[in-house]
Amino acid sequence: MSSDKRDPVKTICPYCGVGCGIQIQQGEEPGDVQFMPWGDAPVNEGRICIKGGAATEVVDHEDRLTDPLIEEDGEFREATWEEAYDRIVGELERIREEYGPDAMGFFGSSKTMNEENYLLQKIARRYGTNNVDNCTRMCHASTVWALRTSLGAGAMTNSMRDLREEADVFWIQGANPGEQHPIANSQYFRQAVLDGATVIQVDPHANKTTRSFGIDDTDRHQHLQLNPGTDIPLLNIVLKTILEHHEEHPEDGWVDEAFIEERTDGFDHLKETLADFDREAAAEECGVPLEDIELAAKKYASADNAAIFTGMGMSQHACGVDNVQNEINLALITGNVGRPGTGVNPLRGQNNVQGTCDVGAMPNVLPGYQLVDDDDSRAAVEEVWGFDVPDEPGLTNVELSHEFGESVHGLYVMGENPVMSEPDANRVAERIQQLEFMVVQDIFMTETAKYADVILPATTWAERDGTVTNTDRRVQRMRGVDKVHENTKHDLEILSTVGSRLFDADDFDFEDPEAVFEELRRVCPIYHGMTYDALGEEGLHWPCYEPGDEGDPYLYEEEFDTESGLGHIEGVSHQPPKETPDDEYPLILTTARLEEHYNTGTMSRRSPTLNRQTPENFVDVHPNDAERYGIEDGEDVVLKSRRGEITVQAQVTEDIKEGSVWTTPHFAAASANRLTNDVLDERAKIPEYKAAAAEIEVG
Ligand code: SF4
Repeated sequence: MSSDKRDPVKTICPYCGVGCGIQIQQGEEPGDVQFMPWGDAPVNEGRICIKGGAATEVVDHEDRLTDPLIEEDGEFREATWEEAYDRIVGELERIREEYGPDAMGFFGSSKTMNEENYLLQKIARRYGTNNVDNCTRMCHASTVWALRTSLGAGAMTNSMRDLREEADVFWIQGANPGEQHPIANSQYFRQAVLDGATVIQVDPHANKTTRSFGIDDTDRHQHLQLNPGTDIPLLNIVLKTILEHHEEHPEDGWVDEAFIEERTDGFDHLKETLADFDREAAAEECGVPLEDIELAAKKYASADNAAIFTGMGMSQHACGVDNVQNEINLALITGNVGRPGTGVNPLRGQNNVQGTCDVGAMPNVLPGYQLVDDDDSRAAVEEVWGFDVPDEPGLTNVELSHEFGESVHGLYVMGENPVMSEPDANRVAERIQQLEFMVVQDIFMTETAKYADVILPATTWAERDGTVTNTDRRVQRMRGVDKVHENTKHDLEILSTVGSRLFDADDFDFEDPEAVFEELRRVCPIYHGMTYDALGEEGLHWPCYEPGDEGDPYLYEEEFDTESGLGHIEGVSHQPPKETPDDEYPLILTTARLEEHYNTGTMSRRSPTLNRQTPENFVDVHPNDAERYGIEDGEDVVLKSRRGEITVQAQVTEDIKEGSVWTTPHFAAASANRLTNDVLDERAKIPEYKAAAAEIEVG
């Protein structure tokens, strides 16, 4: 089928949460999709990083799934859509009949759009279970928990634009925007630095962010290179330094007494927690000179507007909620919330990780973060949906994996790759084979899809329409060009058909993504004021409660969105990682992403441009550790933990602290997640990806 070359359409980069606008143009043949910059795109104003520029390379990749596949006698055979739907509906009905609805799990995806995740979670609820989750569980579940509980909304308090214009200090902890959010770094942070802002980076690993700000200009910027898993003691030093200085020099205004008095609770608890706190001992634990931390505290507390950015180096710990709570404590006692250029701002991963949570693809909340165990919230949603929603929170991603073959017998996976993305990945691969039935909806044969019973070929980001919500709560429209393969289907169409057939009902029958969005607005108060027309090309920052609202670039000007209207301060104490170095595993392993790749690399490993840049995994080893082990730079080593081993090339560098090693999760042949620990934060159920005991074997 050929088509005329048409005008470019405006859409959003499918990779990170910055939400850069790009244009794509349909060429003469399906699959011939050209990338073009979008000069006045609202977030990036035409700039683009290497991933965004290469995103169209995978649209017509030879590995694309083109037809439904059904597993038979250990092989996949091509099937018709009718056969595939019959098998899915039949198996979901059988599982519910034999074991009850909680024997199924549903994985949504931040690679897919708001409308698609909304429909998937609606299917799960109507099926009778709240066992629906998405990959935010793995990246920022703890951040969302802490922000929602203590401030009101599980999202950035501010927007990139007001931060660029108003922040005097950027406190970036456990995040590496230079690598993971390149346009946020170059377009926003870099610009603010050129205008005089100061950067304080807190990270065990020196990285592109460190280098991009010339952080060794220590009079102005600082890199506090702490030991992995010591974020709480470091922030407690900062907090105690600020409080003690304020006692002696209240005239400096480091502590905002009026703000604490009028707008917060819990300050006494923080003071009690820090009463006997020993700053010298804590600095030793962190591996950072005390005077460096005190200097950073001074810079933050004496700034007119100071903003905190938080990343997965904070959230992916068994104490992830407390890590983020301590950042909230810092912002609240200094009054750095509720104004432009301030706040606590998580840098989100995938392009729709914020929206996937907003629309309720989570086991404990319905669309708009309404709690499933709150009777009034449930009743409001049930009235629109016309069926009862289970009133107990369901299982999270990793909890579901732990139950494969036990209480969970079936899994519906849309666009996710848990066999690589979950910690202790070797065990996940074993457990997933205990399922009686799994359907995977994706664009490629992923490491997870290989274990599926039915594989459904979906269209890519460039072929369909819908909305995504970026890291600063901006809801934006995506627009697609022609389908590349005739027999693929949009995720929304697949879900609509599965829902209609499974429930023999017409409430899953939607004409297009806009019709789904119209229903979403009715049950999601923070999106209620949005329409496709109102989103236009600029998008809108939620909350947008009523039609005509212009959205909120920054939150909490008047009051917090908690039950009391107050921001919650709560002192927290050091909790070491659940696995610490010992004689057998004397190193501490930490992990992070690279600029050129994305998560499990399903798309980025298939992009020639990105793969050329970084074709395989590696491990950063400190020169002193390298000497002790006898490792040469560039030599292959075996990196081991209690859960597995990978063979990777050693990169000998002072970027990492002595005693720690650093690697990435992107590469199937040697993914960090074969080594990582699946112990969870008790409240947010996020795994501790960022700290595990490890050992290196040479030769
Ligand atoms: Fe895409 Fe993120 Fe790069 Fe922007 S910064 S082009 S959203 S990957």
